Amino acid sequence: AQNRYADLRGLPATATCGTTIQLYMNAGLMADLPSLAGSGAEGVGLFRTELQFLTRSKVPRRAELAAIYSHVLDSAAGKPVMFRTLDIGSDKVLPYMKPQDEPNPAMGWRAIRVGLDKRGVLRMQLQALIRAAVGRPLYVMFPFIADISEYEAAYKILMEELAREKRLGHAMPSDIRVGAMLETPSMVFAPKRFYEMCDFISIGGNDLKQFFFAADRENERVRRRYDTMNVAFLDFIEQIIHRCDDARVALSFCGEDAGRPVEALTFAALGLRRLSMRPASIGPVKHLIRRVSIADLRAVIDSARASGVTNLRRTVTEWLAQH
Ligand code: PEP
Ligand code: MG
Repeated sequence: AQNRYADLRGLPATATCGTTIQLYMNAGLMADLPSLAGSGAEGVGLFRTELQFLTRSKVPRRAELAAIYSHVLDSAAGKPVMFRTLDIGSDKVLPYMKPQDEPNPAMGWRAIRVGLDKRGVLRMQLQALIRAAVGRPLYVMFPFIADISEYEAAYKILMEELAREKRLGHAMPSDIRVGAMLETPSMVFAPKRFYEMCDFISIGGNDLKQFFFAADRENERVRRRYDTMNVAFLDFIEQIIHRCDDARVALSFCGEDAGRPVEALTFAALGLRRLSMRPASIGPVKHLIRRVSIADLRAVIDSARASGVTNLRRTVTEWLAQH
């Protein structure tokens, strides 16, 4: 299917109104990397680092991880790769971790919460990332930040590890960019300082949506009950866009919805300028963006909202059908 969009590979996702949307891909395996060139993505907006931990019988070694991350950066050939530190717990349980038997694992001991409690593992992963990125830019993204103090603590650990590498006389990455995944509603209301501390922020829409509607993303019975195109949720996304614009921090959206045509165009109309999706979605989303005016869609969305529409799926779908 990707071949249908092959001629678009080198072209930007620029709408007819002149707005350009940056399209990035999500990845998690070395085997995903060839898609970077194949899809024409501008970089990896989310590199999930869980798989190297999930497929081993014990915690991987630093040297082994550094070699993998370095290989990922080699394959990206200068395009940015946003590495997300370990997001385990919840649906991703390590075979060598003591089962936690939590009633609500998605809201339990996971991601940065584990990282800050088991600092040795987080430090080891950060060391591996720093070593892998010697001489090139390093993007590190912390998952599931629910309070500014967690971001500050993780940030501090990263700075300590960078200082340590320097002290040891090792060569360093050429640049460090630090970001947070925004996947809990609390962070939409975080102090301005949080936004200012981030070089970039990525909305983890899968988690953000499950917590916004209090609907388990793994539970088939409730999963589809709440729509991303619900105006309440879109208004919430718009608030994040405003907060990031105010703090001049780069924002992307990296949940599954970023790769869905109606949702992707709507996010663009609300002001998102970077979307990260599975590689196979890049061609179709780019094709669509290049054929429409995002400014026109924005006007349509604004008038629908003003008239009291509570879900924009029909509005946007019908508008698309006319174009
Ligand atoms: C998300 O929550 O939207 C996300 C991108 O992270 P994951 O799906 O790995 O939780
Ligand atoms: Mg998530």
